[in-house]
Amino acid sequence: MRERTEFDEGFDALRELAFDLRWSWNHSQDVLWRQLDAEMWDLNRNPWAILRTVSHDRIRELLAEQEFSKTLYDILAEHRETRLSPAWFQRAHPTEPLRTVAYFSAEFMLDEALPIYSGGLGNVAGDQLKAASDLGVPVVGVGLLYAQGYFRQTISPDGWQEALYPVNEPEQLPLRPLREPSGEWLRLEIEFPGCTLLARTWEVQVGRTKLYLLDMNDPANSPAHRCITSELYGGGPETRLKQEIVLGIGGWRLLRAIGLDPQVCHLNEGHAAFAALERARYFMQENGVPFSEALMATRAGNLFTTHTAVTAGFDRFSPELMTKFFKSYAEDHLGIPVDGLLALGRRDASDKAEPFNMAYLAVRASGAVNAVSALHEHVSKKIFQPLFPDWPAVEVPVGHVTNGVHVPTWDSAAADALWTEATGKGRWCGDQTGLATAIRAVSADKLWDLRTESRRDLIEKVRACHARQLAEDGACESDIEEARSIFDASILTLGFARRFATYKRPNLLLHDPERLARILTNDKRPVQLILAGKAHPQDTQGQALIKLWSDFARRADVRSSVVFLRDYNMLQAQWLIQGVDVWVNTPLRPWEASGTSGMKVLANGGLNLSEIDGWWAEAFSPDIGWAIGDGAEHGSDPNLDEREADELYEHLEKDIVPEFYERDEQGMPVRWIARIRESMARLTPQFSANRAVRDYTEMFYLPAAESYAARSAKTAGTATAHTLCRWRAELSRKWPHVHFGDVRSISSGDEHLFSVEVYLGDLAPDAVHVELYADAVASEPPFKMVMARQQPLSQSGGVSLYLASAPASRPASDFTPRIVPFHSFARIPLEAGNILWQR
Ligand SMILES: *Cc1c(COP(=O)(O)O)cnc(C)c1O
Repeated sequence: MRERTEFDEGFDALRELAFDLRWSWNHSQDVLWRQLDAEMWDLNRNPWAILRTVSHDRIRELLAEQEFSKTLYDILAEHRETRLSPAWFQRAHPTEPLRTVAYFSAEFMLDEALPIYSGGLGNVAGDQLKAASDLGVPVVGVGLLYAQGYFRQTISPDGWQEALYPVNEPEQLPLRPLREPSGEWLRLEIEFPGCTLLARTWEVQVGRTKLYLLDMNDPANSPAHRCITSELYGGGPETRLKQEIVLGIGGWRLLRAIGLDPQVCHLNEGHAAFAALERARYFMQENGVPFSEALMATRAGNLFTTHTAVTAGFDRFSPELMTKFFKSYAEDHLGIPVDGLLALGRRDASDKAEPFNMAYLAVRASGAVNAVSALHEHVSKKIFQPLFPDWPAVEVPVGHVTNGVHVPTWDSAAADALWTEATGKGRWCGDQTGLATAIRAVSADKLWDLRTESRRDLIEKVRACHARQLAEDGACESDIEEARSIFDASILTLGFARRFATYKRPNLLLHDPERLARILTNDKRPVQLILAGKAHPQDTQGQALIKLWSDFARRADVRSSVVFLRDYNMLQAQWLIQGVDVWVNTPLRPWEASGTSGMKVLANGGLNLSEIDGWWAEAFSPDIGWAIGDGAEHGSDPNLDEREADELYEHLEKDIVPEFYERDEQGMPVRWIARIRESMARLTPQFSANRAVRDYTEMFYLPAAESYAARSAKTAGTATAHTLCRWRAELSRKWPHVHFGDVRSISSGDEHLFSVEVYLGDLAPDAVHVELYADAVASEPPFKMVMARQQPLSQSGGVSLYLASAPASRPASDFTPRIVPFHSFARIPLEAGNILWQR
């Protein structure tokens, strides 16, 4: 065997660094990659691609330089130490037995070097995985490796979007095959109707955490099956269903095949909900229990995060399609009829025509459900109310954790330096106390320097990108030359970039093109605007909006003030949110469940001008940004767009432009800087993924792990899945006989005394609660009180008397007795939705 040379050592060191996506947020290694290939680095910042491309001679040459190799080995040592060192989780929860959280998502946006994302959903998944790494929370991601990812965009000469599908060659991506102990590539069997397919497996190192991916492009599969994982959000319902089977069922198998047995399974949106079935199947097998019991045990360890604000946003599959793919799985593996499986995805289990809703499955297979902002919790409660008939919307079991962004991924080098100087290192790796105070102490000069420098950087990048895109079109030399000098670093710069979905109203700012043109081209106080965004290839309305903007951007009077960049992606997003002064967001309330791009500008000193929707409904106050809309929904009011566009223009004309150009004797925009400071101080920590992942850990992961452990305990305790299943079966058998008898109320002084007769038949009284309930009034939450059971009136009839008193500040007629299931270890109504009101 050949001896290992200095080159081998150095190459392996570089490879170890390049394989860990930590480089996408920790920039200490940038110097190395830039030295290896500056041009490639500036183009796409992809260490793995550089290492694959650069000549070995060049590597040898640099390794021979003492400074380079010292930096390399110092960084490597620091890197290894960080990966093994305890973090927030180990310090804050040293005795918690949480081993593994599996985070399932159809997309992950970690870096442009691994383009397997479309937009916000992938952004949330990627940012949370990185924050879990920073915090030491034991999360692993599970996703799909799409051969072509989401489509890429170009714009035709007449302004229409065209979809492109370049191939993600796995060798070019920072990932590696998962291997069996024998060295063989780990490939998983997945049964489809009439055949068994092979799923290939991959791993991506993301700091302390890992992302596992599956794909179907194995030569052993037929061509049709190899294409299952070609495109993200492409193809019809059948392709989508197949992808979700690979993700959920294949994903859980992958984890088990490599020896992981996660206590907590986090479903990021309903796409991966089949993972809950497969988890239950393993539990059945390993514990010799029926499916119902296995689901009761495992669901306690599942968390479902919903991201959509409309019912139409959920995946639904026809009963025929589901039966085709799940008949044998249900009957042979779960031991239930396929209709029993379909019932889990239906509002009405008995309606054989009702499609299968993935979000419904996720709700029924989880121990907790959360939305992604406070407003979205409210919206989601209404969306899921049909699953909890007769329950008041406020009691529909959906909570929320507002999204946050992974600040180290989205802050610029200059912003990072400013924060480090003010608040020290490690600020996004745990508790965030003191950050706001430290930022409030930063001088106006420093803040304004950051803004000026960031705007200058952005403009440089936009010029280069715009010129390159024009050149690709074969534009004439003079146009390309013009693009190279477009914009001015001292001008107020606005950004608008996101998916061009109609609910995001990308055309609101263009509602009155002449008024917008006047704002842009004002000769004393001009404004420049950068746009980008893709519309789904099947979304013709969204594409029409892109056409509108590209036409506008070509108008002679504004073409030096507006640029539409093609192929909106993570790199462009980074330039934009780091450089813009104001980030514009115009969704139709309440459709933006959270939104994250506006959070990305915060650390960089950008400000938000946004509809009061999603996260902005929690964040906005007049001293830190600007809002449009009145904080209410307006259905399909035909004048809404007109009104809100007018508000947008008013803010620009009367507030934003004047304030930006209002300077003191030193040339400083004093009011603007005060606003930046407050926005940075107050909002950045609150809307960080660091905060979000700590919330998930403490509010959901830890309780879920505990509750799963209790339910899966083998000793016959009161909380086991077995007892809960028995309790629930008894409830549903006996519930039809439960009814109310006489109800009396006497008012005296400041109290109403209620006495209620309840017939429970032979249902055990401790299986229910009789409650006194009153709807919420203006400022008060709903009134809810468990009524006290008195000695039984007669043993034979099963009649009991319940008493409670309520404050007389509300009329007695506000209060209604009701009967609901009760078990101290069950979640009501999530796990038993019966309810009987005394009417
Ligand atoms: C942040 C981000 C998104 C999500 O933006 P929203 O405005 O929250 O929808 C989408 N795409 C890219 C490339 C992003 O960086």
